[in-house]
Amino acid sequence: RDRNPGESEFLQATWEVFDTLQPVFEQHPEYVEQGILERISEPERFIAFRVTWEDDAGNVHVNRGYRVQFNSTLGPYKGGLRFHPSLTASVVKFLGFEQIFKNALTGLPIGGGKGGSDFDPKGKTDREIMRFCQSFMTELTRHIGPDIDVPAGDIGVGKREIGYMFGQYKRLRNASEAGVFTGKNPGNGGSLIRKEATGYGTVYFVEEMLKDQGHSFKGSKVIVSGSGNVSIYAMEKAIEFGATVIACSDSEGYIYDPDGINVETVKQLKEVERKRIYHYLEHHSNAQYGKDKSEIWKIPCDIALPCATQNEIDRESAQVMVENSVKAVGEGANMPCTEEAVRVLTHNKVLFAPAKAANAGGVAVSAMEMSQNSMRYSWSAEEVDEKLLQVMKSIYQTCTETAAQYGSPGNLIVGANIAGFKKVADAMVSHGLN
Ligand code: NDP
Repeated sequence: RDRNPGESEFLQATWEVFDTLQPVFEQHPEYVEQGILERISEPERFIAFRVTWEDDAGNVHVNRGYRVQFNSTLGPYKGGLRFHPSLTASVVKFLGFEQIFKNALTGLPIGGGKGGSDFDPKGKTDREIMRFCQSFMTELTRHIGPDIDVPAGDIGVGKREIGYMFGQYKRLRNASEAGVFTGKNPGNGGSLIRKEATGYGTVYFVEEMLKDQGHSFKGSKVIVSGSGNVSIYAMEKAIEFGATVIACSDSEGYIYDPDGINVETVKQLKEVERKRIYHYLEHHSNAQYGKDKSEIWKIPCDIALPCATQNEIDRESAQVMVENSVKAVGEGANMPCTEEAVRVLTHNKVLFAPAKAANAGGVAVSAMEMSQNSMRYSWSAEEVDEKLLQVMKSIYQTCTETAAQYGSPGNLIVGANIAGFKKVADAMVSHGLN
């Protein structure tokens, strides 16, 4: 706390992990002797930099860019870039810290990193986005590379932004290193199914969790917050699995459609027209709109998939969800439930899939994109989707086995934290002090 004053999100994320590790330290005193806890919570490198860019009217703007290279024990730093005005050093560090364990859980050789800027892409023209991305990359280029640090997208960064950043990297490096970014357009070295991977992966993971308790998405009512990349593809897969998605949202409000959300309309509005979610009502007359986005959690449902942003479900919302008999919550977003919300849900026996495990499908397919780029080859959508499904099943199995082994059967939070931590800690011990 003394070393990271005011970094509430980072402290929240570290305590959430450390809280569950006590049984590990009892069995592995070498972790304490080697100072693993202190070392793992200190980034290997934290870069902050100025990004100056010009809007279409010739006005000059200054934003702040970040990259945290948190841990490279298992492989190159890997994690997305977020463009959002709420991005701070604390948020970048919380995301980078979580990423270490998430990446370890995939079983693929990738370390943990994260980055982005407090730049707000909303309302900017294409040319402004391009100029911002070029300026951002002018600095970031010197810190990344296919075997060093491989960024991808996150909130506010999709294939358009990745394309502009990759273009600038190529120009500055005079090299065609496709593997320096993941989440690229499939026509330009990107992996098929990368766009869908986080949302699909979350549903694959939650389905495994439900199956274990004799439930399934089939016939369930589902709420998926957000209407961005993760949300859209979580909705798509949940519907494919026989669920009815009744509500989704954006940062200004939520829509409720008793007939079931039409994902094609959401895709058209969000991916093509870049419009607000309330425009959905122009296409579906039975749908309703609510301005208070947190009220989405008051709608009764069987399964809730928060897929928007951190801390979107608080204690109060969790309480209402329990009263409405929610069966399962799966975190598609990173840390969407506050600590208190998690406590309310788990104490009331709601099945809970934590982000680290449930949303690891995106980074897993990113690692597959790196492999395809190295091989100068591309797998079919079916091949990638099948590999994604197997990765998510294997993460679920690892989490359940680890939870049972450490005395908390069924607790996937404990399972994910311990399994991810142990993998990195063992490798750190074997590398000696650094
Ligand atoms: P996007 O930018 O594509 O979408 C974010 C969505 O959430 C938008 O619809 C946004 O609305 C909405 N939103 C933001 N804040 C709120 C809020 N307070 N209440 C309701 N809706 C809100 O981002 P992604 O889908 O990529 O990321 C979503 C989450 O998933 C993040 O936590 C991210 O870190 C995590 N994640 C993403 C991965 C990926 O592969 N993309 C991988 C693993 C995790 P608006 O358009 O109005 O801003």
